[in-house]
Amino acid sequence: MIEYDVRLASPQAHLFEVQCTIFNPDPKGQTVSLPAWIPGSYLIRDFARHIVSMAASCDGKAVTITKTDKHTWQCAPCSGSLQLRYSVYAFDLSVRMAYLDTTRAYFNGTSLFLQVHGHEDTACGMTLHKPKHLDKSWQVATGMTAEKTDKRGFGRYLAANYAELIDCPVEIGELAVVDFKAGGIPHRIVVSGRHQADLKRIARDLKTLCTHHIAFFGEAPFSRYEFMLYAAGDDQYGGLEHSNSTSLICPRSWLPSQGEQLNEKGYQDFLGLCSHEYFHAWHVKRIRPLAFQQAELGREAYTRMLWVFEGFTAYYDSLALVRSGLISREDYLKDLSESITRLLRTPGRTVQALEESSFDAWVKLYRPDENTPNAQISYYLKGSLVALALDLTLRAYNSSLDEVMRALWQQYGKTGTGVTEDAIEKLVAQICSPDIGQHLKKFFDMALRGTEDLPLAELIAPFGVEYKVAVNGAAAKKQTQQSSALGIKLANGGEAKLTHVYAGAAAEQAGLAGGDVVIALDGIKVSAQNLEKLVSRKAPGTKIRIHAFRRDELMEFKVVTQAAPADSCTLTLSSQPTPQAMQLLDNWLGKMASVSARE
Ligand code: ZN
Repeated sequence: MIEYDVRLASPQAHLFEVQCTIFNPDPKGQTVSLPAWIPGSYLIRDFARHIVSMAASCDGKAVTITKTDKHTWQCAPCSGSLQLRYSVYAFDLSVRMAYLDTTRAYFNGTSLFLQVHGHEDTACGMTLHKPKHLDKSWQVATGMTAEKTDKRGFGRYLAANYAELIDCPVEIGELAVVDFKAGGIPHRIVVSGRHQADLKRIARDLKTLCTHHIAFFGEAPFSRYEFMLYAAGDDQYGGLEHSNSTSLICPRSWLPSQGEQLNEKGYQDFLGLCSHEYFHAWHVKRIRPLAFQQAELGREAYTRMLWVFEGFTAYYDSLALVRSGLISREDYLKDLSESITRLLRTPGRTVQALEESSFDAWVKLYRPDENTPNAQISYYLKGSLVALALDLTLRAYNSSLDEVMRALWQQYGKTGTGVTEDAIEKLVAQICSPDIGQHLKKFFDMALRGTEDLPLAELIAPFGVEYKVAVNGAAAKKQTQQSSALGIKLANGGEAKLTHVYAGAAAEQAGLAGGDVVIALDGIKVSAQNLEKLVSRKAPGTKIRIHAFRRDELMEFKVVTQAAPADSCTLTLSSQPTPQAMQLLDNWLGKMASVSARE
């Protein structure tokens, strides 16, 4: 047994104090380290940089400890039990690290718990010490198994091994809690932060959603599940999946609150986030790439399959909302068309293939810069649309992606077999009749290793859904004359700061760059609010003069405007679908369940 003691030592200074006790350390000298990344988020984050100080002792005598690389320590040989005491700075609001102040404590084990080399399979005990001077109303929430705790949750917890220990984030603070059951299994939603959320409403909708996911796979892989949500300001958003819990952070304005009009889009995004992380409990936590099963947390674990694990999950997160009746078919198609529009506005789709995007996640997806849309695609976004294309393709042959998911669960998830890099394509071919094998091979080569656009319009037509692409806003404005565009993306806010300049567009050809702040068009002051509108009124080919600051230098650019591209997708249900299309649509989106009343 390895014991970890956690103290909320100094909330004002954001310091946790941790003691790790190793009862039978390596007699040649114990090695310990802290992970460099957290499963579910593929970036080297070097959590050890937040360790402020460390000391070791053995039966009360100091033991020499030497740091051997950025996150590894070597203790001198000792006989008896070895104790390491260290403090960890924690002031990161995201779901990936740790946070401590006078209002709240939160941590992932990857930030706090040293990995004891050679003892990765040893059971772990974790004791959360009740802070003496903090608010008496504080409670604890975690997916970890409680061994002996008080009614607020302070006390001792157990984990079967180090992997389980770091897969159970802990939230401590003033918590609003609602329990519910789905598929007969206890679930909880625990909310911290400032909010006035209607938790009963949220619990009711989550119950519907969780019941749907459990029925989809035929069983739940956990005996209880916790949604741990931090309600934050408008710029905070994120989620991280765990085996029997998830950490979520979202704007409090997305949550329904009594007596206030519902932010429909925000709430749909919140339910989508919950759906996404919950689906991961099967898909990526248990149906796992072999590369992740064998991963070492000190260095990158490469896979070309994140389009399967993140893309399929992103596809099913919103599909589950429409299938369970939480959103309407129109809402679902709107969400889908927005994804298609986002991909159409990413020039990088003609540059980077989907498998490459997955492999390079460690250096690209999590480290975006001004060139990102020109050089990359997201395996979430394109992965979800490849999942859609694959599902629609399979449905044309009386099969579906649902069948593939269930086979993945039975063959890999349930048995704990790691998914090899070529397994998905083989499995899909197995499930389908042999006559479409060649067709599928071409599909995968195009979708995963190629950069041409997916034939979505053609694939979705048999389902009675019309796919249209037009210039942004053209349909609404009933524009007859062609409008112009610079090919830029602006930052939020008052000044017209360019975050991105798209490849080949008018702004790029004139020499404008990401980071430039445009101040005038033809000598007249502009802002983020009116720059694109003013340009859109010009006929394509118009010469305009733009003044902008690059860093602190004023520069002038002569721009020749280009025709605004047709990159806005709309998907609409056919008003007179054939019986065959209606049948296909019902099979895909589920029979029209009554959309739960949105009060
Ligand atoms: Zn995900």
